[in-house]
Parts: sequence; structure tokens; C-alpha cells
Amino acid sequence: MTTQPPQPHQGVALITGATSGLGAEFAQQLAGKGYDLVLVARDRDRLEATAADLRATYGVNAEILAADLTDLDERAQVEQRLASPEQPITYLINNAGYGLPQEFHRNPVDDEQRMLELLATVPMRLSHTVLPGMLSRGSGTILTVASIAGEAPLGMYAAAKAWPMSFSRWANAHYRSRGVTFTALAPGFTRTEFHARLGVERTEMAPGWMWLDADFVVRSALRTASRGRRVSIPSVRYKLLWAFMKMTEPMILLFVARAGRTATDSASSPTR
Ligand code: NAP
Repeated sequence: MTTQPPQPHQGVALITGATSGLGAEFAQQLAGKGYDLVLVARDRDRLEATAADLRATYGVNAEILAADLTDLDERAQVEQRLASPEQPITYLINNAGYGLPQEFHRNPVDDEQRMLELLATVPMRLSHTVLPGMLSRGSGTILTVASIAGEAPLGMYAAAKAWPMSFSRWANAHYRSRGVTFTALAPGFTRTEFHARLGVERTEMAPGWMWLDADFVVRSALRTASRGRRVSIPSVRYKLLWAFMKMTEPMILLFVARAGRTATDSASSPTR
């Protein structure tokens, strides 16, 4: 039974990482606007439950694709769906992602590579796969979830998130006149499962005023993308922080260098 009035059909959106946090919120809000959905994540049971809820609430079609996007064979199924001319994908949301818990040199290099792949290589491949169809139809939207951290030199996660910021800026300028827009979403700290998966308390990460709600972040991102803009930074406080970060990059680097020295000193301390 549909609990929301059905909306005119808008097209089909494929969302990666659609089972929790920002991805689940993108699925809710796009279904509410009348999009059919293709939901991608690793946990099949959770995907089935999410799809059933969306079908019942909004009366939309919701396909699922259970895939680890860092696995070549599993990712190939997602690429096949993106390239399919039947019920073509009109809106791609590259959202799946996570962070790693330790300092760069302490994490196994294979874990660092998998994270880099999920945050940069996967959105590049999925965008490359869906783009020709969108260009031939003269319309399409590609929204990639980056991070405000991607605008500052703040470690490996931030470096990986710099990729969608730079790529979306270029791709939007390059393809927008042909009907396909690219938007990078650069949220600040947002209440999702991200930090629990990382094994850290939210209160350890940032003070309360820095936290955003996923529904606000997604509403803001969808509005910015619908206007064809290249970057979405939800909330005035993060827009100000972004301007501050741009002005103070040398000071951020000094702070990071000092923090690195302190960590090295304590790591070599005999009392540790
Ligand atoms: P989340 O609640 O932990 O959601 C992550 C989603 O990604 C889940 O649906 C997860 O489902 C999926 N996923 C993880 N690894 C995957 C893989 N290898 N293959 C396929 N799916 C995978 O976290 P979130 O905060 O919503 O994160 C969404 C995006 O926002 C990420 O790109 C993150 O970097 C970015 N971001 C988050 C924040 C924040 O403060 N929360 C801030 C800036 C940017 P399965 O486990 O079932 O695969």
C-alpha cells in the first residue's frame, strides 16, 4: 500500500551505498520525487528491506544489486546495469564510502588501496559507464559524494575525496552544455553510520554544532544538482569554514606537521 501520493515518473536513479546514512536518504527523497531506483550495497538483506519499504511507501520500482564495488566481478554487474539501454539510468549517485581508523602508515596498504578505489576509481568507472547513454539522450545528472575534507590537506581520506571535487568541477564545465551535469557534494560531519563503522564516538570527532542531519544534507544537494551547479556545500557554517580553510591552508599544514611529530614522538616513547 502506497502511503505517499504517487509523483509523475522522473526517470531511474542508481545509488551506491543506498542502505544507510546519506545513500538511504537519497533513496527516500528521490523516490518521493517520483524516481524509480536501483539500490547498490553489499548487504543483500538490508537492500531487500530498503527496497520493500520504498516500494510500499512511494509506489516506485526499486531494483537491488548486491555488490562490493571494490570487487571487479561484482562491480561489473553494476556497470552492466548502468550501460543498459532498457530503463536507462538518468541519475547516478556515487555515494558508497568509508574511512579507515588508523594513521596512514599503520593501516595495511591493501586497505588504503581499497578505500582509494571505492572513493575515486569506482565513481570514475561508474560515471564513465553511464555517460555515453546520457550524452546520447542529451540529459543526465551525476552527483558524487565527496567531503568538505576533500578541500584541505587532511590525510588519505581527504586526498581520495579531493578526486570527486576536482573531477566534478571539470566535468560539469565540459559536459553541461550537452545536457549532463556533474555535482560534487561536500558535506561536513553528518549523523550517519560512518563514524560507528570507523569505531569512533561522534563526540570524539567534533563538537555538537558541527553535526548536520542527513535529510538536510541530501535536500540541499539535490537542490544544487537540479540547478546544474558543480559543488554543493550544505549549510552556511560549512560554507564559511570552507572559505576559512582556503585562506589558511599553510596554517593547516603546519598544524598537521606538528601533530605528525607528536604522534611520532609518542610512538617511539619507551613508556608507550
Ligand atoms: P554510512 O551510513 O556508513 O553508509 C555507507 C554506505 O556505503 C552503506 O550503504 C554501505 O553498505 C555502503 N558501502 C560501503 N562500502 C561499500 C562497498 N565496498 N561496496 C558497496 N557499498 C558499500 O556512511 P555515510 O556517511 O552515509 O557515507 C556516505 C558517503 O558520505 C561516503 O562516501 C562518505 O565518505 C561521505 N561523507 C560522510 C560524512 C559523514 O560525516 N557521515 C561526511 C562527508 C562525506 P554495505 O555495508 O551494505 O555495503
